[in-house]
Amino acid sequence: MIMTVLGPIDPDELGFTLPHEHIMVDFAGATTAGPHRYDRDEVIRTMEPHLLAARDAGVQSFVDCSPMYLARDPVVLRELARRTGMNIVTNTGQYKEPYLPEQTFALSADVLADQWIAEWTDGIESTDVRPGFIKTAVNPEPLAATQQKVITAAALTSRATGMTIGTHTCRGVPALQILKILDRYGVAPRKWIFIHAHQESDIGLLKIVARSGCWIELDGIGSAPDATTLSALLQLLDAGFESQIMLSHDAGWYSVGEPGGGDVKPYTYLSTRFIPLLRDFGVGEESIRALTVTNPARAFAIDAV
Ligand SMILES: [Zn+2]
Repeated sequence: MIMTVLGPIDPDELGFTLPHEHIMVDFAGATTAGPHRYDRDEVIRTMEPHLLAARDAGVQSFVDCSPMYLARDPVVLRELARRTGMNIVTNTGQYKEPYLPEQTFALSADVLADQWIAEWTDGIESTDVRPGFIKTAVNPEPLAATQQKVITAAALTSRATGMTIGTHTCRGVPALQILKILDRYGVAPRKWIFIHAHQESDIGLLKIVARSGCWIELDGIGSAPDATTLSALLQLLDAGFESQIMLSHDAGWYSVGEPGGGDVKPYTYLSTRFIPLLRDFGVGEESIRALTVTNPARAFAIDAV
């Protein structure tokens, strides 16, 4: 199954999916961020038209990647899912320094995992909204101690719940290090998403990571130059990794603290611009379906444990 903010659905119901976007983000920091910093109705009013535009462009499902302490709001996401009819998926897990609360540095991986598993079991922040995957983040360099701990907690959570882990990773070197930690805890590479993989310019290294079997997410569509993403994508397709690649914008979002949420980047570039470009470069309909429908349905499927 896939766990949406309105409950579980069959992976076949997911359809055309954006696997990495944001409705709202607040970079104020873990001690400052919270619902007191924004007006839920204004966020919903501001973001609903952008989701509807995506829906009109063929998008059926939307994975929201804003983690706790960065304005993940289950109430806003649930209301937007109800209003737009789109499947919306949220997450448990934590980001990286400096967006972590003090307690994360003191707690063990086991205790962190227990907190995240409790969100899966009981719902997020006293709602009935349950997470659909585990979001984490590391720096582009070798992992700091806290990041190793957060990845370990994610591995424990994945083992206990069957949820997939997605990590803001950006580069091949930390990607390989993460895969090593996951392996130590018995989490298969197919349960891990290499987020922002388009930022790794060494295609050889990208292929080495892909050979593990993990998900490769090229999620800068519409902001990274098309030529760069296209070149990486075509090389990965040529190398036989079609069944491991996903595409998204990492767009949005209502920026908490800015008047009216600031400038919101739309969720439509992939459908209206990039996919036609793929067709121009000879990518067939079956491959496009794999990248946008089949792969997200497999990546976010929650295993029975
Ligand atoms: Zn993001």
